[in-house]
Parts: sequence; structure tokens; C-alpha cells
Amino acid sequence: METPHRIPQWASPTGGLPSAVGWAQLLLTDRLNPGDIALDATAGNGHDTLFLSRCVGSSGHVYAMDVQLAAVTETRRRLLEAGLAPEQFTLVQAGHETMAGIVPAEHHGQLAGIMFNLGYLPGSDKTVITRTETTLEAVSAAVTLLKPGGLLTIAVYPGHEGGAQEQRHLADWAASLPPREFEVQHLRPVNRHANPPECWLVWKTAPSRAR
Ligand code: SAH
Repeated sequence: METPHRIPQWASPTGGLPSAVGWAQLLLTDRLNPGDIALDATAGNGHDTLFLSRCVGSSGHVYAMDVQLAAVTETRRRLLEAGLAPEQFTLVQAGHETMAGIVPAEHHGQLAGIMFNLGYLPGSDKTVITRTETTLEAVSAAVTLLKPGGLLTIAVYPGHEGGAQEQRHLADWAASLPPREFEVQHLRPVNRHANPPECWLVWKTAPSRAR
């Protein structure tokens, strides 16, 4: 008998290996728990904000931000349409470099997951892109907001204008993180000639636990 064909849940649209965001979601799914606090630093159309909200459940909380009003409006619409209660999330129109001021002090050092999906919003104003300087400020803030054992994921798009520079600076930043405090990994396609998206993973070390 033929085995029924099953498309892997975390495949890219071509059915291949996970995309940069796919890797991020796969790992966060494994690590986030109901009641956790998470943050989406580039809300865009709200897909990742909704993903994080589902991971942390109704007892958790998600902070999300975007500089574009249209992105914030669309994200709010998506979350409410999915049945989330307004108290489950904090959504603001602001630059992610200000995230430490958006997340209240009692949640600093408590975040279990933080996602960045850099670049521009597909199907919208391509001049509103993430910028190297503010991205570096934001990822530096993000690692201080993480709890021990928390995971920061960054999807980087080196193909657009300024993207390669952002990618290089992020790589330098990631390599400079102290190894006692962070584990850093980098996932990227290696046999494509263009500048394919890539995923950076920063895990804040935690005292080891028995499994
Ligand atoms: N390129 C990705 C989508 C990125 S969306 C993909 O293909 O899936 C990136 C989002 O970051 C956009 O909605 C944009 O408005 C937002 N953004 C740009 N600069 C920002 C900043 N400083 N703070 C927060 N969001 C920002």
C-alpha cells in the first residue's frame, strides 16, 4: 500500500526546507509555553504576532511593534479576528529600538521569545525598511529583555538595498556576544547565488535542567 503523502508542516512553499521565518517558528514552537511573554519586533502584517500569541495562549502576553501605522492596524485586525482578547497583547506604532521603554520594567529579563523579521513589508511601501543602526540598537535591547533560556530569532534579507550591510553588522554583533551568556547559530542556504534570507538564533544561557 502506498504511504499517504504528507507535506511537512515547516516546509517552505516549494515543499523544501524551512524558510528563515519557518526555522524561527519551528524552534519557538518547541520552546514557548502557555503563560509566557513574547515580543514581535517587526509586526508587519501580524502573522508572527499571531503565531506568538497562539504559542503563549490566553494566559500569556505578546508585545508587538512596527513603525508603520498600516502594519499596526493590520496586525490588530488579524489578532482580533483570530479571537484574541485585547488584554492578551500590547501593540504599538513605534521603532523596535525603543522596546525597552515599551515593555514594562517588571517584564525585563522575563521574555521567553523575541522575533525580528527584517526588511520591508511585502506588498507595501518598500522605502520603509529596517535600518542597520536601529536594528543593532534593537537586538542589543532584545537580549537584555530575554529571560535565561529565552530565544531571540532574526530573519535577515540581505537581497534588498541596505540588506547586505545590515546582514554584515548583525553577523559581527552576533559573533561578539559572550559565549558564556549566549549560544548563537546561523542558518542559511549555501548553494544559492543570490542573497537568500537567513535566520539567526540567539539563545540566552540558562542553568541546565534535568530532562
Ligand atoms: N521582509 C519580510 C517582512 C519584513 S516586515 C518578509 O518578507 O517576510 C518588516 C517590518 O519592519 C515592516 O512592517 C516595517 O514597517 C517594520 N519596520 C521597519 N523599521 C522598523 C523599526 N525601526 N521598528 C519596528 N518596525 C520596523
